[in-house]
Amino acid sequence: MLKQIFQSIDDLYPEMVEIRRYLHQYPELSFQEHKTAKYIANFYEKLEIPYKQNVGGNGVVATLKGGKPGKTIALRADFDALPIQDEKEVDYKSKVDGVMHACGHDGHTATLLTLAKVMKKYQSELPGTIVFLHQHAEEYAPGGAKPMIEAGAIDDVDVVFGTHLWATIPLGVLQTSPDVFMAGADRFEIKIQGQGGHGAYPHETKDSIVIGTQIVSQLQQIVSRRIDPLKTAVVTVGAFEAGEAYNIIADQAKILGTVRYLEKDVQETVMKEMERIIEGACTSAGVTYEFDYAKGYPPLINHAEEAELVLKSSKQIKEIDQAENVIPVMGAEDFAYYTQNKPGAYFFTGAQKEGNDYPHHHPKFDIDERALPIAAKTLIQVYFNYQKKHN
Ligand code: MN
Repeated sequence: MLKQIFQSIDDLYPEMVEIRRYLHQYPELSFQEHKTAKYIANFYEKLEIPYKQNVGGNGVVATLKGGKPGKTIALRADFDALPIQDEKEVDYKSKVDGVMHACGHDGHTATLLTLAKVMKKYQSELPGTIVFLHQHAEEYAPGGAKPMIEAGAIDDVDVVFGTHLWATIPLGVLQTSPDVFMAGADRFEIKIQGQGGHGAYPHETKDSIVIGTQIVSQLQQIVSRRIDPLKTAVVTVGAFEAGEAYNIIADQAKILGTVRYLEKDVQETVMKEMERIIEGACTSAGVTYEFDYAKGYPPLINHAEEAELVLKSSKQIKEIDQAENVIPVMGAEDFAYYTQNKPGAYFFTGAQKEGNDYPHHHPKFDIDERALPIAAKTLIQVYFNYQKKHN
Protein backbone atom coordinates (compact mmCIF):
# COMPACT_ATOMS: atom_id res chain seq x y z
CA MET A 1 0.00 0.00 0.00
CA LEU A 2 2.89 2.38 0.78
CA LYS A 3 4.13 2.12 -2.78
CA GLN A 4 0.75 3.33 -4.04
CA ILE A 5 0.64 6.03 -1.37
CA PHE A 6 4.05 7.30 -2.44
CA GLN A 7 2.88 7.31 -6.05
CA SER A 8 -0.21 9.31 -5.05
CA ILE A 9 1.99 11.82 -3.21
CA ASP A 10 4.13 12.23 -6.33
CA ASP A 11 1.03 12.62 -8.49
CA LEU A 12 -0.19 15.41 -6.24
CA TYR A 13 3.15 17.26 -6.28
CA PRO A 14 1.88 20.09 -8.54
CA GLU A 15 -1.05 20.70 -6.19
CA MET A 16 1.24 20.56 -3.16
CA VAL A 17 3.43 23.27 -4.69
CA GLU A 18 0.36 25.30 -5.57
CA ILE A 19 -0.89 25.18 -1.96
CA ARG A 20 2.54 26.13 -0.64
CA ARG A 21 2.84 29.05 -3.05
CA TYR A 22 -0.67 30.27 -2.31
CA LEU A 23 0.05 30.30 1.43
CA HIS A 24 3.42 31.89 0.73
CA GLN A 25 1.68 34.84 -0.93
CA TYR A 26 -0.79 35.32 1.92
CA PRO A 27 1.20 34.91 5.14
CA GLU A 28 -0.26 35.82 8.53
CA LEU A 29 1.47 36.62 11.80
CA SER A 30 1.28 34.43 14.91
CA PHE A 31 -2.12 34.55 16.64
CA GLN A 32 -3.58 36.44 13.66
CA GLU A 33 -3.66 33.55 11.21
CA HIS A 34 -7.47 33.46 10.81
CA LYS A 35 -7.57 33.19 7.01
CA THR A 36 -4.95 30.45 6.95
CA ALA A 37 -6.92 28.49 9.57
CA LYS A 38 -10.06 28.95 7.47
CA TYR A 39 -8.19 27.76 4.37
CA ILE A 40 -7.09 24.62 6.20
CA ALA A 41 -10.60 23.99 7.59
CA ASN A 42 -12.12 24.37 4.10
CA PHE A 43 -9.63 21.85 2.76
CA TYR A 44 -10.81 19.22 5.26
CA GLU A 45 -14.43 20.19 4.66
CA LYS A 46 -13.99 19.38 0.96
CA LEU A 47 -12.18 16.14 1.76
CA GLU A 48 -15.00 15.19 4.13
CA ILE A 49 -12.54 14.52 6.91
CA PRO A 50 -13.95 15.58 10.30
CA TYR A 51 -12.10 18.50 11.87
CA LYS A 52 -12.27 20.99 14.72
CA GLN A 53 -11.50 24.70 14.40
CA ASN A 54 -10.36 27.19 17.02
CA VAL A 55 -8.55 24.55 19.02
CA GLY A 56 -6.67 26.51 21.68
CA GLY A 57 -6.77 29.58 19.41
CA ASN A 58 -6.51 29.31 15.63
CA GLY A 59 -5.53 25.64 15.70
CA VAL A 60 -7.23 23.13 13.38
CA VAL A 61 -7.30 19.43 14.20
CA ALA A 62 -8.57 16.88 11.68
CA THR A 63 -9.04 13.19 12.40
CA LEU A 64 -8.93 10.40 9.83
CA LYS A 65 -10.09 7.15 11.38
CA GLY A 66 -8.86 4.16 9.42
CA GLY A 67 -10.94 1.06 8.67
CA LYS A 68 -8.54 -1.18 10.56
CA PRO A 69 -7.57 -1.15 14.25
CA GLY A 70 -4.40 0.54 15.37
CA LYS A 71 -2.79 3.35 17.29
CA THR A 72 -3.68 7.03 17.10
CA ILE A 73 -0.80 9.03 15.70
CA ALA A 74 -0.64 12.82 15.49
CA LEU A 75 1.31 14.55 12.72
CA ARG A 76 1.96 18.21 13.32
CA ALA A 77 2.45 21.17 10.97
CA ASP A 78 2.59 24.81 12.05
CA PHE A 79 1.20 27.58 9.84
CA ASP A 80 2.18 31.07 11.05
CA ALA A 81 4.56 33.54 9.38
CA LEU A 82 7.01 36.24 10.50
CA PRO A 83 7.19 40.06 10.59
CA ILE A 84 9.74 40.24 7.74
CA GLN A 85 9.54 41.99 4.36
CA ASP A 86 9.85 39.44 1.56
CA GLU A 87 12.82 40.39 -0.65
CA LYS A 88 12.83 37.39 -2.97
CA GLU A 89 12.32 37.92 -6.68
CA VAL A 90 9.86 35.11 -7.41
CA ASP A 91 6.30 35.18 -8.68
CA TYR A 92 5.00 33.64 -5.44
CA LYS A 93 6.52 36.41 -3.32
CA SER A 94 4.47 37.58 -0.30
CA LYS A 95 1.64 39.94 -1.17
CA VAL A 96 1.39 41.12 2.43
CA ASP A 97 3.60 44.04 3.33
CA GLY A 98 6.02 43.26 6.14
CA VAL A 99 4.86 39.66 6.60
CA MET A 100 6.57 36.61 5.16
CA HIS A 101 6.70 32.83 5.42
CA ALA A 102 10.40 33.00 6.22
CA CYS A 103 10.53 29.72 8.13
CA GLY A 104 8.83 27.30 5.76
CA HIS A 105 5.61 26.80 7.71
CA ASP A 106 3.74 27.25 4.42
CA GLY A 107 5.56 24.13 3.23
CA HIS A 108 4.69 22.25 6.43
CA THR A 109 1.02 23.01 5.88
CA ALA A 110 1.06 22.04 2.20
CA THR A 111 2.81 18.77 3.13
CA LEU A 112 0.22 17.80 5.74
CA LEU A 113 -2.81 18.85 3.67
CA THR A 114 -1.62 16.88 0.66
CA LEU A 115 -0.89 13.87 2.84
CA ALA A 116 -4.43 14.11 4.23
CA LYS A 117 -5.85 14.18 0.70
CA VAL A 118 -3.86 11.08 -0.25
CA MET A 119 -4.69 9.16 2.94
CA LYS A 120 -8.42 9.83 2.55
CA LYS A 121 -8.29 7.55 -0.51
CA TYR A 122 -6.83 4.73 1.58
CA GLN A 123 -9.07 5.24 4.60
CA SER A 124 -10.75 1.81 4.54
CA GLU A 125 -7.40 -0.02 4.53
CA LEU A 126 -5.70 2.33 6.97
CA PRO A 127 -4.69 0.90 10.36
CA GLY A 128 -5.35 3.23 13.30
CA THR A 129 -6.12 6.92 13.23
CA ILE A 130 -4.22 9.90 11.87
CA VAL A 131 -4.64 13.16 13.75
CA PHE A 132 -3.60 16.11 11.60
CA LEU A 133 -2.42 18.80 14.00
CA HIS A 134 -2.39 22.18 12.27
CA GLN A 135 -0.81 24.47 14.82
CA HIS A 136 -0.96 28.25 14.87
CA ALA A 137 1.61 30.60 16.42
CA GLU A 138 4.85 28.67 16.60
CA GLU A 139 6.97 31.76 16.10
CA TYR A 140 5.85 33.73 19.10
CA ALA A 141 5.96 32.47 22.69
CA PRO A 142 3.82 31.38 24.53
CA GLY A 143 2.97 29.78 21.17
CA GLY A 144 0.13 27.66 19.88
CA ALA A 145 1.19 24.16 20.95
CA LYS A 146 0.54 24.71 24.65
CA PRO A 147 -3.04 26.01 24.35
CA MET A 148 -3.83 23.32 21.77
CA ILE A 149 -2.65 20.65 24.17
CA GLU A 150 -4.64 22.27 26.98
CA ALA A 151 -7.68 22.21 24.70
CA GLY A 152 -7.28 18.44 24.46
CA ALA A 153 -5.78 18.20 20.95
CA ILE A 154 -3.56 15.22 21.84
CA ASP A 155 -5.59 13.68 24.69
CA ASP A 156 -6.46 10.57 22.66
CA VAL A 157 -3.15 10.42 20.83
CA ASP A 158 -0.55 7.68 21.44
CA VAL A 159 2.41 9.44 19.83
CA VAL A 160 3.28 12.69 18.01
CA PHE A 161 5.62 13.18 15.07
CA GLY A 162 6.57 16.33 13.22
CA THR A 163 9.14 17.69 10.84
CA HIS A 164 10.68 21.02 9.97
CA LEU A 165 11.79 21.72 6.40
CA TRP A 166 15.37 22.79 6.99
CA ALA A 167 16.87 25.16 4.44
CA THR A 168 20.45 24.86 5.63
CA ILE A 169 20.78 21.12 5.03
CA PRO A 170 20.71 19.56 1.56
CA LEU A 171 17.79 17.82 -0.04
CA GLY A 172 17.91 14.13 0.78
CA VAL A 173 19.32 14.61 4.27
CA LEU A 174 17.31 13.90 7.42
CA GLN A 175 18.42 14.90 10.90
CA THR A 176 17.07 14.04 14.30
CA SER A 177 18.25 13.20 17.81
CA PRO A 178 17.46 10.48 20.36
CA ASP A 179 17.47 13.06 23.15
CA VAL A 180 17.55 16.87 23.34
CA PHE A 181 17.22 18.19 19.80
CA MET A 182 16.51 21.92 20.16
CA ALA A 183 17.21 24.45 22.89
CA GLY A 184 15.02 26.09 25.50
CA ALA A 185 14.59 29.81 24.76
CA ASP A 186 13.85 32.59 27.24
CA ARG A 187 13.54 36.36 26.91
CA PHE A 188 14.70 39.07 29.29
CA GLU A 189 14.27 42.78 29.72
CA ILE A 190 16.32 44.94 32.10
CA LYS A 191 15.28 48.51 32.87
CA ILE A 192 17.80 50.71 34.64
CA GLN A 193 16.51 53.86 36.26
CA GLY A 194 19.47 56.23 36.63
CA GLN A 195 19.39 59.95 37.05
CA GLY A 196 19.73 62.03 33.91
CA GLY A 197 21.32 65.42 33.64
CA HIS A 198 23.60 67.78 31.75
CA GLY A 199 26.51 66.14 29.91
CA ALA A 200 28.82 68.75 31.39
CA TYR A 201 28.04 67.76 35.01
CA PRO A 202 28.32 63.96 35.21
CA HIS A 203 29.03 64.05 38.95
CA GLU A 204 25.48 65.27 39.53
CA THR A 205 23.94 62.35 37.62
CA LYS A 206 23.71 58.57 37.66
CA ASP A 207 24.61 57.59 34.14
CA SER A 208 22.36 54.72 33.04
CA ILE A 209 24.48 54.09 29.92
CA VAL A 210 27.64 53.52 31.93
CA ILE A 211 25.80 51.18 34.32
CA GLY A 212 24.03 49.43 31.45
CA THR A 213 27.21 48.77 29.50
CA GLN A 214 28.83 47.33 32.64
CA ILE A 215 25.93 44.94 32.91
CA VAL A 216 26.17 43.98 29.23
CA SER A 217 29.86 43.22 29.54
CA GLN A 218 29.46 41.27 32.80
CA LEU A 219 26.67 39.19 31.28
CA GLN A 220 29.27 37.83 28.86
CA GLN A 221 31.01 36.19 31.79
CA ILE A 222 28.08 33.99 32.73
CA VAL A 223 28.71 31.53 29.92
CA SER A 224 32.50 31.78 30.11
CA ARG A 225 32.87 31.75 33.91
CA ARG A 226 29.74 30.41 35.57
CA ILE A 227 28.56 27.56 33.32
CA ASP A 228 30.28 24.17 33.32
CA PRO A 229 32.38 24.13 30.12
CA LEU A 230 30.82 20.80 29.22
CA LYS A 231 27.35 22.30 29.30
CA THR A 232 25.72 24.72 26.88
CA ALA A 233 24.20 28.15 27.23
CA VAL A 234 23.77 31.33 25.24
CA VAL A 235 23.23 34.81 26.71
CA THR A 236 22.62 37.30 23.91
CA VAL A 237 21.90 40.99 24.33
CA GLY A 238 19.91 41.93 21.24
CA ALA A 239 18.96 45.51 22.03
CA PHE A 240 20.25 48.38 24.14
CA GLU A 241 18.12 51.49 24.21
CA ALA A 242 19.23 54.65 26.00
CA GLY A 243 19.77 58.33 25.48
CA GLU A 244 18.64 60.85 22.92
CA ALA A 245 21.22 63.60 22.62
CA TYR A 246 25.00 64.06 22.60
CA ASN A 247 25.08 66.36 25.61
CA ILE A 248 22.50 64.75 27.89
CA ILE A 249 23.23 61.95 30.32
CA ALA A 250 20.64 59.24 29.81
CA ASP A 251 18.08 58.89 32.56
CA GLN A 252 17.10 55.32 31.65
CA ALA A 253 18.49 52.34 29.81
CA LYS A 254 16.70 49.27 28.53
CA ILE A 255 18.46 46.01 27.67
CA LEU A 256 16.71 43.19 25.81
CA GLY A 257 17.99 39.74 25.11
CA THR A 258 17.57 35.99 24.89
CA VAL A 259 18.89 33.02 26.85
CA ARG A 260 19.26 29.55 25.31
CA TYR A 261 19.98 26.35 27.19
CA LEU A 262 19.64 22.59 26.92
CA GLU A 263 19.28 21.64 30.60
CA LYS A 264 17.05 23.00 33.32
CA ASP A 265 19.87 23.49 35.86
CA VAL A 266 21.76 25.63 33.34
CA GLN A 267 18.69 27.81 32.89
CA GLU A 268 18.48 28.25 36.67
CA THR A 269 22.16 29.17 36.96
CA VAL A 270 21.86 31.76 34.19
CA MET A 271 18.81 33.36 35.82
CA LYS A 272 20.49 33.49 39.25
CA GLU A 273 23.74 34.90 37.86
CA MET A 274 21.93 37.53 35.81
CA GLU A 275 20.05 38.75 38.86
CA ARG A 276 23.29 38.87 40.85
CA ILE A 277 25.14 40.88 38.18
CA ILE A 278 22.29 43.34 37.64
CA GLU A 279 21.70 43.81 41.35
CA GLY A 280 25.42 44.26 42.00
CA ALA A 281 25.94 46.86 39.30
CA CYS A 282 22.82 48.82 40.18
CA THR A 283 23.37 48.70 43.93
CA SER A 284 26.94 49.91 43.66
CA ALA A 285 25.82 52.75 41.39
CA GLY A 286 22.90 53.60 43.66
CA VAL A 287 20.19 53.20 41.04
CA THR A 288 17.06 51.08 40.81
CA TYR A 289 16.20 48.51 38.18
CA GLU A 290 13.52 46.16 36.95
CA PHE A 291 14.50 42.72 35.75
CA ASP A 292 11.88 40.79 33.83
CA TYR A 293 12.83 37.24 32.86
CA ALA A 294 10.23 35.43 30.77
CA LYS A 295 10.62 31.68 30.39
CA GLY A 296 9.79 30.62 26.84
CA TYR A 297 9.73 27.26 25.10
CA PRO A 298 11.46 24.44 26.99
CA PRO A 299 14.13 22.33 25.28
CA LEU A 300 12.71 19.97 22.67
CA ILE A 301 13.48 16.49 23.92
CA ASN A 302 12.84 13.61 21.55
CA HIS A 303 11.97 10.15 22.81
CA ALA A 304 14.74 7.74 21.87
CA GLU A 305 12.50 4.93 20.62
CA GLU A 306 10.48 7.24 18.37
CA ALA A 307 13.58 9.02 17.03
CA GLU A 308 15.07 5.63 16.24
CA LEU A 309 11.89 4.76 14.34
CA VAL A 310 12.22 7.97 12.29
CA LEU A 311 15.81 7.10 11.35
CA LYS A 312 14.86 3.54 10.47
CA SER A 313 11.85 4.65 8.45
CA SER A 314 13.86 7.20 6.48
CA LYS A 315 16.00 4.37 5.11
CA GLN A 316 12.91 3.21 3.23
CA ILE A 317 12.50 6.53 1.42
CA LYS A 318 14.47 6.42 -1.79
CA GLU A 319 14.87 10.21 -1.95
CA ILE A 320 16.70 10.20 1.40
CA ASP A 321 20.36 9.28 1.08
CA GLN A 322 21.59 10.40 4.48
CA ALA A 323 19.83 10.11 7.83
CA GLU A 324 21.63 10.87 11.04
CA ASN A 325 21.47 11.81 14.69
CA VAL A 326 22.95 15.25 15.28
CA ILE A 327 23.95 17.42 18.21
CA PRO A 328 21.23 19.88 19.30
CA VAL A 329 20.64 23.20 17.57
CA MET A 330 20.19 26.34 19.70
CA GLY A 331 16.98 27.37 17.95
CA ALA A 332 13.74 26.61 19.78
CA GLU A 333 10.42 25.02 18.83
CA ASP A 334 7.19 24.64 20.75
CA PHE A 335 6.95 21.09 19.44
CA ALA A 336 8.75 20.63 22.78
CA TYR A 337 5.37 20.67 24.56
CA TYR A 338 4.08 17.69 22.59
CA THR A 339 7.00 15.48 23.60
CA GLN A 340 6.64 16.69 27.20
CA ASN A 341 3.13 15.25 27.15
CA LYS A 342 3.38 12.25 24.82
CA PRO A 343 6.05 10.06 23.27
CA GLY A 344 7.23 11.45 19.97
CA ALA A 345 10.02 12.76 17.82
CA TYR A 346 10.80 15.77 15.69
CA PHE A 347 13.15 15.79 12.72
CA PHE A 348 14.55 18.06 10.04
CA THR A 349 13.90 17.39 6.37
CA GLY A 350 16.67 18.83 4.18
CA ALA A 351 15.20 21.56 1.94
CA GLN A 352 18.18 23.60 0.80
CA LYS A 353 17.50 25.39 -2.47
CA GLU A 354 20.35 25.51 -4.94
CA GLY A 355 21.66 29.03 -5.33
CA ASN A 356 19.80 30.23 -2.24
CA ASP A 357 21.92 30.08 0.89
CA TYR A 358 19.77 32.30 3.06
CA PRO A 359 18.90 30.88 6.47
CA HIS A 360 15.54 30.73 8.20
CA HIS A 361 14.06 34.12 9.18
CA HIS A 362 16.00 35.90 6.40
CA PRO A 363 14.16 38.23 3.93
CA LYS A 364 15.38 36.06 1.03
CA PHE A 365 14.68 32.70 2.68
CA ASP A 366 13.28 30.01 0.40
CA ILE A 367 13.05 26.22 0.26
CA ASP A 368 13.44 23.55 -2.40
CA GLU A 369 9.85 22.42 -2.85
CA ARG A 370 10.94 18.89 -3.71
CA ALA A 371 11.44 18.50 0.03
CA LEU A 372 7.67 18.56 0.58
CA PRO A 373 6.88 15.12 -0.86
CA ILE A 374 9.97 13.75 0.95
CA ALA A 375 8.56 15.06 4.24
CA ALA A 376 5.12 13.63 3.46
CA LYS A 377 6.55 10.21 2.60
CA THR A 378 8.71 10.11 5.71
CA LEU A 379 5.80 11.02 7.99
CA ILE A 380 3.53 8.34 6.55
CA GLN A 381 6.32 5.76 6.51
CA VAL A 382 6.88 6.50 10.21
CA TYR A 383 3.13 6.18 10.74
CA PHE A 384 2.98 2.71 9.20
CA ASN A 385 6.14 1.50 10.91
CA TYR A 386 4.80 2.68 14.27
CA GLN A 387 1.55 0.75 13.66
CA LYS A 388 3.48 -2.37 12.75
CA LYS A 389 5.72 -2.09 15.77
CA HIS A 390 2.86 -1.55 18.21
CA ASN A 391 0.40 -4.03 16.78
MN1 MN B 1 9.88 27.34 12.16
